[in-house]
Amino acid sequence: MTESWKTRTKLVHGGSRRSQYNEVSEAIFMTQGFVYDSAAQAEARFIETGPDEFIYARYGNPTVAMFEDRIAALEGAEDAFATASGMAAVNGALTSLLQAGDHVVSAKALFGSCLYILENVLTRYGVEVTFVDGTDLEQWRDAMRPETKAVFFESMSNPTLEVVDIAGVADIAHGVGATVVVDNVFSTPVFSDAIAQGADVVVYSATKHIDGQGRALGGVVLGSKDYIRGTLEPYMKHTGGSLSPFHAWMFVKGLETIELRVNAQAESALKIAQALEGHPALARTIYPGLASHAQRDLVARQLGGKGGTVLSLDLKGGKTSAFAFLDALTIPLISNNLGDAKSIVTHPTTTTHQRLSDAQRKELGITDGLVRLSVGLEDSDDLIADITRALASLG
Ligand SMILES: *Cc1c(COP(=O)(O)O)cnc(C)c1O
Repeated sequence: MTESWKTRTKLVHGGSRRSQYNEVSEAIFMTQGFVYDSAAQAEARFIETGPDEFIYARYGNPTVAMFEDRIAALEGAEDAFATASGMAAVNGALTSLLQAGDHVVSAKALFGSCLYILENVLTRYGVEVTFVDGTDLEQWRDAMRPETKAVFFESMSNPTLEVVDIAGVADIAHGVGATVVVDNVFSTPVFSDAIAQGADVVVYSATKHIDGQGRALGGVVLGSKDYIRGTLEPYMKHTGGSLSPFHAWMFVKGLETIELRVNAQAESALKIAQALEGHPALARTIYPGLASHAQRDLVARQLGGKGGTVLSLDLKGGKTSAFAFLDALTIPLISNNLGDAKSIVTHPTTTTHQRLSDAQRKELGITDGLVRLSVGLEDSDDLIADITRALASLG
């Protein structure tokens, strides 16, 4: 691969490996193992594995390697390790780095399973965790200690779409030598500039925009060669969270079109947000790409002004209105994935964020009327017509 390639060229050709048949489309190497020519070659490979040499699919596989190299090229990371799900990526990124006595500072606005790892898993093994309001740099600064080993946050929070200042937090964290781990799903790999902003480790659930068609679970951790091969890989390859070659193949093909898809989805999301802003049935229209977003300067600096593919609507009539709205929609599907080609609508209070207490939801701004819309690839005019008709039907 040529370093000077632009994004779309990297996404189509980056990381390709061809077999002796010189196939055009990337092959699925559906194999757990690899044959050695001799006993001596087996011995040598267990000591050191070359760039196109493999031992066992839990350690690495050619199709998985194509996915890792292609997403690393997109993110501008030195290296990547693919995982069986987004949660295997979050767990691996943190657990491989930490030990008893370490301290972690985390934003409190987290996806439920991320919160579980920080609150219920790491703490069981003697890691102390402090939660802060991710948008408040003062709180990050106050929480740092000499033994702070890592900081963790979702760069754009779910479902209230608050943006965390990666450069600001990284500056504070690096002051005490802590590793900055960013769950970057809502920012998407297309709009991400996380590593240039100061993130040391970037994590994606590939289940979202990388697949982009709602088919497979997967994830990836990106970072320096030292971290990926020295810290993360030994943990992942021995604990079993490796990605299936079949899913890796879907993600390799997903990356070919991700730039086109995510840009189209973000363009639609902006049009929908602009069309709905100020609608009498809505208390708030939240979209980071809107000029009215509270953090528009940060969105400009960190995401090139792009607001992502998700918007949230706060309906005035609470849960009753939110449910009636979901039921009245004919195009967006009621489900809980995001980044899919199909628009998906979610009521966080009763589904994804049901397990939080009322007080926690209130603190995070997750009201009973809040609805999250993941914008798909449908025509935005059709989506706007469907949404405005559903809102009008609320009376
Ligand atoms: C979906 C999601 C995850 C978990 O990914 P899975 O692939 O479902 O395991 C983690 N973080 C964020 C922000 C997500 O949206």
